[in-house]
Amino acid sequence: MSDQERLIDHVEVDRSACIGAVVCEALAPGTFEIDDENIAVVRPKEGWDDDEAILDAAKACPVLAIKLMAQDGSQIFPEEDK
Ligand code: SF4
Repeated sequence: MSDQERLIDHVEVDRSACIGAVVCEALAPGTFEIDDENIAVVRPKEGWDDDEAILDAAKACPVLAIKLMAQDGSQIFPEEDK
């Protein structure tokens, strides 16, 4: 997938919230990796999974520790209350 087609531009893991449930790594192994402390980290952007897989991973996180942003800075997930 080229960068132009990609909506997700920035992925963040709230390490204080993450409980190491590994769901994100299972669903989007190119994007998330569980480190030595059993906490998810975001992998280099070059290898990211497609948007759908990243979104699935964010939605599947039991503690909603994953935040996704678009290139224009808007938040894609979790959806912000308007
Ligand atoms: S799914 Fe959520 S809690 Fe589990 S490892 Fe990933 S970020 Fe952490």
